[in-house]
Amino acid sequence: MQFKSKLPYIHSHIFSYMSGLANQYNAINLSQGFPNFEPDAVLKNLVAKCLSENTSQYAPMPGLPLLREEIARKIQCCFNVAVDPDTEVTIGCGATEMIFDTITAFIWPGDEVIIIEPGYDCYRPAIDVVGGVPVVYKMKAPDFSIDWQELAACITPKTRMICISTPNNPTGALMSREDMQELARLTAGTNIIILSDEVYEHMVFDGAVHESPLKYPELRERTVAVYSFGKTLHITGWRIGYAVAPPLLTAELRKVHQNSVFSTPHPLQKAIALYLSESDEYLNLNTLYQQKRDLFRQAMATTKFKPLSCPGSYFQLYDYSAISDEGDLAFCERLVKEYGVAAIPVSRLYTDHQDDRLIRFCFAKTDDVLLAAAKRLELL
Ligand code: GLN
Repeated sequence: MQFKSKLPYIHSHIFSYMSGLANQYNAINLSQGFPNFEPDAVLKNLVAKCLSENTSQYAPMPGLPLLREEIARKIQCCFNVAVDPDTEVTIGCGATEMIFDTITAFIWPGDEVIIIEPGYDCYRPAIDVVGGVPVVYKMKAPDFSIDWQELAACITPKTRMICISTPNNPTGALMSREDMQELARLTAGTNIIILSDEVYEHMVFDGAVHESPLKYPELRERTVAVYSFGKTLHITGWRIGYAVAPPLLTAELRKVHQNSVFSTPHPLQKAIALYLSESDEYLNLNTLYQQKRDLFRQAMATTKFKPLSCPGSYFQLYDYSAISDEGDLAFCERLVKEYGVAAIPVSRLYTDHQDDRLIRFCFAKTDDVLLAAAKRLELL
């Protein structure tokens, strides 16, 4: 068979690769982002209950009405913004599906899409599959801020979309109110769509506030904002996320969703809806993860690794240049094999694999695991 790969550069997914190595060497896995603890037992019990209640056939294509209503209530409570659950909320198979659907729904061959790096690695492949042109804007270390003048220089008449993420994976950087205002100024009067990946919305530390384009009327009209119950309820394996967008954008997005995934698991959606109707526990995530971040950073203070700031997400970047000159991938491979700790090499989250000797640890782990990892890293 002869064919031309649309994604010739994709080999092994760095998150699966590092988790695989961690398993192979029985290492502490702080690489792929997922909690090592269980979701609330109440939520798990609701799944069992919902499974026995006539939920074994398709859920409606856009998502269970009950869950979409709960999502609208959550957005009202968190952002003080009214969204219509019928025409503005779509439930998908994880935020990843919603991101893929948004890009494939709106990007035509030759359209330019600005992506911000370092960043999660799912935007570029979606753009390439539909023949779009990714245009990379690199944030500035060490705080990974956005220089809006430089970003403005990436915009051309062909720019169709800007992908933002806040809190950012892997840097934890947050976009501020001023960033949102700059974005609004830059896109005013254009047809640019904002794809806003906010899956770490409830992991924002030191009193900072999560900013979403949904809070800004001039941005809201052009924004598809994407969220993840995987992150918010500790259920990354359930694959339930959602997108919030104005009716016109939602209608297009649903056309792709309808023909790719159609609808997501009915019992899981119902269980989440019932859970959200009685629990606002997610509002305490900031506290939970700030404690973990602080514990990990404190334990790591006796190592030669130097922390970067981490205002959000459940990832902490460390600079290891005082320890080794190795490239970050080789260094991470050696960390697993010789020291029994897995991390993510940040170069893999740049298209050009820019290597600044930075690695990412996920601190969504029980305290004993975080302390044990730090102890092993003291040996370097
Ligand atoms: N978002 C997770 C991370 O950054 C990984 C998700 C995945 O492996 N698909 O580690």
